[in-house]
Amino acid sequence: MDLSDLRVNGERLRASLEEMAKIGATPGGGVQRLTLSDEDKRARDLFVGRLEEIDLEVTVDEMGNIFGRRPGKNDELPPVFSGSHIDSQPKGGRFDGILGVMGALEVMRTLHENNVQTERPVLIVDWTNEEGSRFAPAMVASGVWAGKLDRDWAYSRTDRDGKVFGEELERIGYKGSAPAKAWPFHAYYELHIEQGPVLESIGKTIGIPKGILCLHWYDVYIEGKANQVGPTPMEGRNDALCAAAEMILAVQSVPARMGGNMVATVGEIQNYPNSRNIIPDGVHFTVDIRSWDDHLAINAWEQLKIDFQAAAGKNGCPIRFEETWRVEHTPFAEKLVGLLAQKAEALGYSSHHMVSGAGHDASYMNMLGDAAMIFIPSIGGRSHVEVENSTWEDCESGANVLLHCMIESANEV
Ligand SMILES: [Zn+2]
Repeated sequence: MDLSDLRVNGERLRASLEEMAKIGATPGGGVQRLTLSDEDKRARDLFVGRLEEIDLEVTVDEMGNIFGRRPGKNDELPPVFSGSHIDSQPKGGRFDGILGVMGALEVMRTLHENNVQTERPVLIVDWTNEEGSRFAPAMVASGVWAGKLDRDWAYSRTDRDGKVFGEELERIGYKGSAPAKAWPFHAYYELHIEQGPVLESIGKTIGIPKGILCLHWYDVYIEGKANQVGPTPMEGRNDALCAAAEMILAVQSVPARMGGNMVATVGEIQNYPNSRNIIPDGVHFTVDIRSWDDHLAINAWEQLKIDFQAAAGKNGCPIRFEETWRVEHTPFAEKLVGLLAQKAEALGYSSHHMVSGAGHDASYMNMLGDAAMIFIPSIGGRSHVEVENSTWEDCESGANVLLHCMIESANEV
């Protein structure tokens, strides 16, 4: 058959997504499949079964990453691979991550049922703990695989209940024996929902990110002085929460003040002792800064430290910072970005060049070799929430682009 006529089976893709959405389904229509939870285990078991059905060679590595391999005619050549993550946010959506895994599975099924022999081997992957919501940081297992994070450090991460990553991995039976160590690859593709409003607002089907924004995480700790709120006059208070309020507004205004393309967010805050009649004596909050321009993001943080010191001084509250995590912006391989645009056009789908504001496992793959991503529209631009949604038609279109890019790359010798 002419390979250009090949299409994925949209109904089957839908069924596989719906089947996965039942595991950890929430009353609000989303899923909660926290990494290394019982739900994660059930979804993994189902996934592995699906890989075995189509005779893929399954490997689980010591980080719990699951690979399914389909041999190539030249089996020694570096493979082409694709995947994403099965884990979700707490009360997350039915498409984030799992679309990229079920999309790649649909590609593998299509190759299998049509007996398509590619020159290079083709692999599918599920990366452990992409979300980082149970065990920080995010993208931890692809980071270890890529040699950017230490395996034993990853094993030692704990969740809020004090459960340890390495022990939880073992408990669910997915601490494999293969080393979590990168091997050479020819191309890596990741199909994902956009998680933003752009594609829907301009009415395009396929988003082609030129890369992923830099991602800088900080933690800020403020110390105040606790006291009974009634007898303590307003003058001379050391109210850590009021200091934090001024700092949070400084974060909100920093992108406009610095100019350029950037977003800055305080998403998490803890206030102590968090009692209505005690002046707060301790606050911790997080700062997340993203931009295509790493220097701009770093300058913004430098500016924020000045703003924070000023607010701390004004409120008489000592402050401490931690620079928790920095990932540089990553431009994707131009060759693959071009191929994505070409295949989208050949398939008759409208497409749009953009950037990814969210981090993905593809960031780490892109540090090692050629990587690229395919986005499809998120209805209402919503993600990491139960109402996260995309149309089945767009899921199918994204999987078709993935199919043709993978075939093309896998036949390059
Ligand atoms: Zn994701």
